[in-house]
Amino acid sequence: MSFIFVGNWKMNPASAEDARHLFNAYKKLAQKFARKRVSFIVAPSAPHLGLLSQVKRPKNLFLAGQDVFYEREGPFTGFISPLMLYGIGTDYIILGHSERRTLGETNEIIAKKIKASVKVRLKPIVCIGESSRDTEGEFWHELRKQIEETFHGISKVEAGKVIIAYEPVWAVGEKSRGAIKPNDLQETILFIRKTFSHLYGGKLGRALPILYGGSVFSFDAKDLALVQGVSGFLAGRASLNKKEAATILDEIF
Ligand code: PEP
Repeated sequence: MSFIFVGNWKMNPASAEDARHLFNAYKKLAQKFARKRVSFIVAPSAPHLGLLSQVKRPKNLFLAGQDVFYEREGPFTGFISPLMLYGIGTDYIILGHSERRTLGETNEIIAKKIKASVKVRLKPIVCIGESSRDTEGEFWHELRKQIEETFHGISKVEAGKVIIAYEPVWAVGEKSRGAIKPNDLQETILFIRKTFSHLYGGKLGRALPILYGGSVFSFDAKDLALVQGVSGFLAGRASLNKKEAATILDEIF
């Protein structure tokens, strides 16, 4: 597929009926953009994921979980296992989102989740990104350390199954400063590829799918999508508005 659009619905919408309605809009979008080779990955809340997994969908519309635990089964109250998600037809799993990292999720925990997910053929979408940008370039160290720790103990075969979502924390969500500038995105994508090349070799570094996430809306979508090496977007707020999501795709294609 040439372009990936991930919609992270977070803890929205409140009702199952609204989730079904929004999902129907994505079904239409997926059909409309199938010829352009766009894949849509929708990440609803866990209860809605269960409901929507029973709905027939086009081949280029996939489901993702927003998080998962690393154990297979057992006495872990409130947790969901990768096997449970895969078993109901979930294809992808978002891991290491900044909103979860803020709540205490460490790189070490995310590494365990990557391993556990790959094991059952759930494809991880691993979020990485610096907390802020300084003029001295300290943030490059932060980003490199985060990648090295998150992928510590992850084999080349496992890393080859991962999609990276580069989401600078300062650009994500309501309180953000807006999306990254295209030039800065270009530079960061090269940096991420270089870091992965050091860890796993140039072939994997070059082939790694890298999405951008952080205040993607229809007005900035085209410039960001044109950045070389961007494989797609991970959108939060825009993905909850069916018109805005459709306009983003219309802007690009
Ligand atoms: C996100 O939550 O991953 C995200 C990118 O959010 P937003 O698009 O709302 O900035």
